[in-house]
Amino acid sequence: MRYPINEIFQTIQGEGYYTGTPSIFIRLQGCPVHCNWCDTKYTWICDDKDNVSSKEIINKKQVSKQWSFITIEEILVILKKWTAKHIVISGGEPCLYNLLYITKILETKGYQCQIETSGIKNIICSSNTWITLSPKKNMKPLNESIIRSNEIKFPILKQEDLLYVYDILSNIKDTKKRIIYLQPISQNKKALNICIDICIKQNWKLSVQLHKYIKIQ
Ligand code: SF4
Repeated sequence: MRYPINEIFQTIQGEGYYTGTPSIFIRLQGCPVHCNWCDTKYTWICDDKDNVSSKEIINKKQVSKQWSFITIEEILVILKKWTAKHIVISGGEPCLYNLLYITKILETKGYQCQIETSGIKNIICSSNTWITLSPKKNMKPLNESIIRSNEIKFPILKQEDLLYVYDILSNIKDTKKRIIYLQPISQNKKALNICIDICIKQNWKLSVQLHKYIKIQ
């Protein structure tokens, strides 16, 4: 089993429930959602001309469109050089791929898995994997993805974005406890104030992309 990987690195998770947790990010290549404010646009297209050796991806120093197929066995070897026990499978859109095997293997090796997804595809992973759903206005998440989520993190730029938030939340029929986050897009000050105001009114949580404030990857 192998996955098209753009980056793999250790850092501190800067968003949502696991904020502050030392984490290893596995960033998969490919995303059809194409949000115009996306800060990982280099992951959108899985172009053959950008397919490089796994060594080049492991040693990558700056962001680029380059990616490589890396097997789970290789991933397990790479992980040994770091201390974190929390793995974030991100993208791109990681749920373009079947993540059941990788999440199960990682758990048997003592790792906790988290997937960050827009929810446009079925989420195929272990039952213990923490699902961070971040719905995007340009492609609505599947109902199944919403139901599977442990936290829902809404990116907010303008007041009107809240209509989308209420629309998604009002259609959830189950009683599962999910943590609701509002996250201002790209450290936008106006968006931050909107999020603070609504989080206080609704008793939701604020996610501020801590990594951008402390200037880490
Ligand atoms: S879903 Fe995520 S990776 Fe895809 S375009 Fe939007 S922000 Fe970027």
